Amino acid sequence: MSNLVPPSGVEECKGQALENPAIEAYPARLSELGSLKIRRALPVRGRRMVGPWCFFDRYGPLSFDSRQSKPMDVAPHPHIGLQTVSWLLEGEVVHHDSLGYESLLRPGELNLMTAGRGIAHAEETPEENSGKLNGVQLWVALPKSRRFAAPSFEHRLTLPVIELSGGSATVMMGELGGQRSPASAYSPMVGADLAVHAGERLALPLEKTFEHALMILDGDAELEDQRLESDTLYYIGANRDQMELQSRGGARAMLIGGAPFEETVLLWWNFVARSSQELAAARDAWQRHELFGDVKAYRGPRLDAPEFSGRPIPSRPA
Ligand code: MN
Repeated sequence: MSNLVPPSGVEECKGQALENPAIEAYPARLSELGSLKIRRALPVRGRRMVGPWCFFDRYGPLSFDSRQSKPMDVAPHPHIGLQTVSWLLEGEVVHHDSLGYESLLRPGELNLMTAGRGIAHAEETPEENSGKLNGVQLWVALPKSRRFAAPSFEHRLTLPVIELSGGSATVMMGELGGQRSPASAYSPMVGADLAVHAGERLALPLEKTFEHALMILDGDAELEDQRLESDTLYYIGANRDQMELQSRGGARAMLIGGAPFEETVLLWWNFVARSSQELAAARDAWQRHELFGDVKAYRGPRLDAPEFSGRPIPSRPA
């Protein structure tokens, strides 16, 4: 996925972790990625990060006729300083990148791209498809120790699933309930797809030192007797050793969390950096066809970077 909104403003993202349990609701912002309507749940005003998670896009569910439309078609674009986490509930997305990886993503599998010092990729609805699309894309900010590392790509076909009273949890990233995802993670975190059985109460163990947030992806759910609305990120604070979700008809939810991220990061377009000079340099490198490499498998032009007009924000020690 590519960040097309806002095209020019630099967002300064610093942790605003609460030390104790809370329930704060942040409605997602509506936006468009080409023809695909998305709801952006992170960053939002007042809540820029949850642990190392700094970006959360939700799209679908939608049905389409593939003879007439291709709902996801994100042309080659660059990333630095982050990991992209792609997860589907329905449908298919094919990923191509400048390292030469091609990966067809299906529901229940994880595509994880670690940009490090720089990579380019494209994401599209494949020619052969189910006519459905429903998923999320999240970004994880890399800590300073990893942000200039070599880029890499992982496609994880199997992930740990924890069976719990009232439902289950698939651990995409990091650790939950003593189960660890095989996907590469560089700071303490969790990313999990939760399933709540109809008419039941899911009791989910949580890491007490993490802050957490969740978003309902399907169905109905209540947290501590509060009904959770769709397309809304619920920040639930920290110092919880468990969370209970109940559902009448069954639900799916995305849980994100982690140790409060200690570095302030700058997010602009598809880059996570520490200074506006670094953002401008990455933009110029992309425009000059330097640093990132080409996505040779994509048919069509690549994305042009927007003009960089971010106000100068000096680099600061982490
Ligand atoms: Mn992308």
